[in-house]
Amino acid sequence: PVQVMPENTLQGIHLMGKESNSLPHRRLEGKVAIVTGGAQGIGEATVRLFARHGAKVVIADIEDILGNALANSLAPSTTYVHCDVSLEEDVENLISSTTLRYGRLDILFNNAGVLGNQSKHKSITDFDVDEFDRVMSVNVRGAALGMKHAARAMIPRGTGCIISTASVAGVMGGLGPHAYTASKHAIVGLTKNTACELGRHGIRVNCISPFGVATSMLIGAWKTSEDEEEEDECMSFGTPKGKEVEKMEEFVRELANLKGPTLRARDIAEAALYLASDESKYVSGHNLVVDGGITISRNCVG
Ligand code: NAD
Repeated sequence: PVQVMPENTLQGIHLMGKESNSLPHRRLEGKVAIVTGGAQGIGEATVRLFARHGAKVVIADIEDILGNALANSLAPSTTYVHCDVSLEEDVENLISSTTLRYGRLDILFNNAGVLGNQSKHKSITDFDVDEFDRVMSVNVRGAALGMKHAARAMIPRGTGCIISTASVAGVMGGLGPHAYTASKHAIVGLTKNTACELGRHGIRVNCISPFGVATSMLIGAWKTSEDEEEEDECMSFGTPKGKEVEKMEEFVRELANLKGPTLRARDIAEAALYLASDESKYVSGHNLVVDGGITISRNCVG
């Protein structure tokens, strides 16, 4: 039999929706956050959400035009700093310029990452060493450098929160090129070790493992020559649109164990918001998997 919800329950749901849209509750009020890879994709969605929740947000990226445009559109809550996360001097400058400007650093979201050139990672028997090192230097060294310099700023205050973007490719095999998969497993390990070390300083360290979100990183890897003609539409202002996005979202929906919803960058930003806010004050060393159940269902027998 079909269950009909009582009208007051429906009204309650309706009202909850309204409340969350009007953000009655600013969960990061007064906090200072850095989001690396913040110019587009998951980083951009997180910058927008953190700013709406009252944080001052520093966007760090190498895409200066996109980063500056985003920062200007959300000013005065956001600023942009050019930072290649694989370079220690850039990361050091990012953290020191943030603490100089705002007097503190509460949250670092280590989100910058690259998938790598797929054609150079086809097989373990002939992968390209330079490309392997490039992926590792951005994804792993970049996250470790962020942790190093953020921890130096956070330890004297005895509080702070570091979040990194791992991936479902950091939980299971067969979902990405070798270097990418290795780099994302490394982020999960780095998160656990750093959480062990920094807990006594009041600093929480966690990571998030998303499944497929239709960002320029993933759409770029998905492009077929037939799709190239739509490049302009697809890549406008860092937010992919068009038929690649629809195809990819459908593919992700098909694979997920959870039928129905479409995974979007905003969903990963919501996970980052939870880990950055006081609601997760007892959560550290955790890998928050946001994947519609694909990793558990792939490991299930039957
Ligand atoms: P994206 O390409 O939209 O954004 C990545 C951002 O990182 C870009 O703005 C890029 O300029 C920046 N970046 C790249 N190299 C950098 C460097 N050396 N220094 C500073 N910034 C740099 O892709 P996205 O999907 O939003 O990716 C964000 C993170 O999420 C990455 O770590 C990625 O591996 C991870 N991730 C993405 C998915 C997905 O399905 N999109 C799934 C799992 C994990």
